[in-house]
Amino acid sequence: MRTTETRSRPAAPAPPPVPPPKDASQLRQKRMIAEHFRTLERAPEEGRKVVYTFVPGNLTELLGALDLLPVLPEINALQSGMRNLSGGYIAEAEKAGHSEDVCTYVKCDLGMMKSGNVGPTGTKIPPPDLLLLSYTGCFTFLKWFELLREEYGCPVVMLHVPYQADGRITPEMRRYVVDQLERDVIPALERLAGRKLDLDELARRLELSRRTEDDLVAVWESAKHRPSPIDGYFGGVYYVGPIFSAFRGTEDARAYYRELLSEVEERIARGEGPTTPDGPFGEERYRLVVEGPPNWTSFNDFWRMFSREGAVVVAATYTKVGGLYDEGFRHDPARPLESLAEYCLTCYTNRCLPSRVDLLERYLREYSADGFLINSVKSCNSFSVGQLLMLRTLEERTGLPGGFIESDLVDPRYFGKANIENRVQSYLQMLESRKRGRYA
Ligand code: SF4
Repeated sequence: MRTTETRSRPAAPAPPPVPPPKDASQLRQKRMIAEHFRTLERAPEEGRKVVYTFVPGNLTELLGALDLLPVLPEINALQSGMRNLSGGYIAEAEKAGHSEDVCTYVKCDLGMMKSGNVGPTGTKIPPPDLLLLSYTGCFTFLKWFELLREEYGCPVVMLHVPYQADGRITPEMRRYVVDQLERDVIPALERLAGRKLDLDELARRLELSRRTEDDLVAVWESAKHRPSPIDGYFGGVYYVGPIFSAFRGTEDARAYYRELLSEVEERIARGEGPTTPDGPFGEERYRLVVEGPPNWTSFNDFWRMFSREGAVVVAATYTKVGGLYDEGFRHDPARPLESLAEYCLTCYTNRCLPSRVDLLERYLREYSADGFLINSVKSCNSFSVGQLLMLRTLEERTGLPGGFIESDLVDPRYFGKANIENRVQSYLQMLESRKRGRYA
């Protein structure tokens, strides 16, 4: 039977949003990373040696001075999270017997290795010739490299960095780390490289690091402006890309941070906020400090929960995990080993809870924040232990309200979008009513 009923056509699917154009510094960083991974892929045929190591406490200048190529497994894990690959890698590791409670960076890394060890840019990452275990406060680092040692059958050299239990570095602590560098780490790296360490080359690289660190600190401190020209958390994780990975102490990193700083200064001059996944930031309504790592599997969704509401993160602890330069530390070519030791000792993961609270309090005051938010990630004991105590202490000391959300680093099972969005919105609404109350 024919019908005269007219059927409306299904609506055409909305076209995917066009990503905003990238800044020159972002494009530069992308090229640098792609080139590093191509170099890594060629390393076995070119006879170059590869050292896996961690972000906190990395000794990149030392590796570079000996022409050794660093691989940072944490960075590979977070990149896999951003590319929606981590869920499969984690499942692979859990099938092999790793518990659901293990840090998901570890499982993601092991799953990636079992799946062919193809890195974030699609090139193969060679196996390590050495595992350089800089132990800076997180016990998982030890277990992670024990597992890699078994898988790859390669040597490990350990740098034991004493925990800053009293929130300060003593001369004995510095000496203890320098002794290990002289006695264990440098000889092991020299054996691998087949040559002696050139101290002039190390000093040249440390000087580049020092200048780069000055620029990075200027970028962080730009967030004291209103509106802030940067987002110190979501944008900040891109800003630390080169300095936290393979590039500290290189001309490339120096050029990147020069360019980044000039872009930030231009935004200040134009009175603009940061760029976001949707393009330029709108009106700055809330200034926040954030504690804890971000979620990587839904990174842009997470960022939009803030940027679309006019909430900018003016300072964060996570972006200091590979170096707390805004507290004054700089690599020093005149004191090469001492300053490498101090760098390792000052890493955020190596700090006790009271000094972490002090840092957050300073950020809240110096960056004129309206409040703070804690993202407690299931994976990371090093960050998450004590965060509820931090919340209470900071509220008492500053009178500013704290919010608390829970997610994970790279396990997509632990990012409840609706739940997190609800919490963020309730928190921002509460900030809004406080502001209205204050200015009514
Ligand atoms: S537990 Fe935290 S600090 Fe330790 S390896 Fe995992 S993510 Fe890094």
